[in-house]
Amino acid sequence: MDRILKGLSRFQKRVYPKHRDLFQKLALGQRPEALFITCADSRIDPCMLTQTKPGELFICRIIGNVVPPYPDAIGGVSATIEYAVGVLGVPDVIVCGHTDCGVMKGVMNPEVLEPLTSVSAWLNYARPARDAVLPPEQSSADLELLLRLTERNVIQQLENLRTHPAVAARLEQRDLGLHGWLYDLGEGNVTAYEPGREAFVPLETPQPKLRAGRR
Ligand SMILES: [Zn+2]
Repeated sequence: MDRILKGLSRFQKRVYPKHRDLFQKLALGQRPEALFITCADSRIDPCMLTQTKPGELFICRIIGNVVPPYPDAIGGVSATIEYAVGVLGVPDVIVCGHTDCGVMKGVMNPEVLEPLTSVSAWLNYARPARDAVLPPEQSSADLELLLRLTERNVIQQLENLRTHPAVAARLEQRDLGLHGWLYDLGEGNVTAYEPGREAFVPLETPQPKLRAGRR
């Protein structure tokens, strides 16, 4: 806890004064560019990953980046989605899974999760993804299968997202982008789901504009 408190003190003394204008502007309202739904895993920093500043991402952290289909489990996740999509009007939603996800490992080996009743119940929403990559009662520690499951889970949660009324309404108006990402923690790479190819492919990033006269 000491390190956290020292960090807070450093933020207030050094970081905040440098960005005072930004924080004072943000105190009046927000207009985030995307709802970013990702695992609660401590190794993911959505703002560092996307190089965004406070006010630019509306973030929903939840183990396994699981989105229950509407109207199941009405609670924090569904309320966050409704507020971000229906009230703040974010133009895009990103569901971001990640490599070495402990939760996905648990989904592959449900017997490990049995004592954790809340986690087990929550991860039932990853069950369709598991059944798509593994025979029903089989456990596995295969890393390739873990990656397939993690990808499949992102696709499943995108499907669940579409069942939420605020999302469905915006999709109907062709006014909302849905994106499935997979973040490789060790390599810093991100792949994105491309429905046309039914595959995760390296994310194309906008190329910097070449300045005239430069080679
Ligand atoms: Zn995770």
